[in-house]
Amino acid sequence: MKLILPDYDIKLGDGLAEVKNGILYIYKPGSFKDVMYQLTYLIYGKDECFFCHKKLRSNMLEMDNEKYFSQITLDHLIPQEFGGPTITNNLRPACSECNSSKGNMYPDEFLEYRKYYNKKRDKESKKARREFKESLRNTQEQRRKGEIESISKEWFTDELIRNIYVSFWIAEPLGAMYKKQERFLKKYKRLPKPIVVSQNRFLLDGFNTILLAKYNYGEQIKIIVLENVIFVGFP
Ligand SMILES: [Zn+2]
Repeated sequence: MKLILPDYDIKLGDGLAEVKNGILYIYKPGSFKDVMYQLTYLIYGKDECFFCHKKLRSNMLEMDNEKYFSQITLDHLIPQEFGGPTITNNLRPACSECNSSKGNMYPDEFLEYRKYYNKKRDKESKKARREFKESLRNTQEQRRKGEIESISKEWFTDELIRNIYVSFWIAEPLGAMYKKQERFLKKYKRLPKPIVVSQNRFLLDGFNTILLAKYNYGEQIKIIVLENVIFVGFP
């Protein structure tokens, strides 16, 4: 699949990465997330919440206008819990209120949720809310079990990739996030997250997934190949 990029050439600070002729070159190992955050702001701006269109502030200097500004965050459209990758295609600027109340909902679910929660508190709407929550819980459990696809199949490659190059060692591979994914794997017998690799097959994201694959419950690692991203290492 293709990573969404700004439609102009640009160098990111500190020699992290560069967009040139529609290709993203990443120079610094371990910087992928940071590069994705910076590119997302370049593509979608920093001014407005994607969900409620509230004006956003991106730094503390704008604090005085508290009434109009809310802290800026980046939301994963496909929630991280369901394997939503940290790539520009899946990130949008959002106010902290929307981001935290959206939690592990998909955008359409969040819109529905907001509809129910803006309603008055009569018996009817309470019933509707309860039903919505119930069906959401079911859907989410089906996603965890893999009965419903969490991510569009078009994002994954069909190729059998035998060699993925891991160019860096993450300092804490066995941190809290790893433990969480390990619990998920043991319970649902499937890997919770895909891995993301560059066109030249360097691992960009999903280090924990690679480590977890050792359990091998017969579940294939799902691979997202970013065809317009090249990992160059140190320039
Ligand atoms: Zn918002």
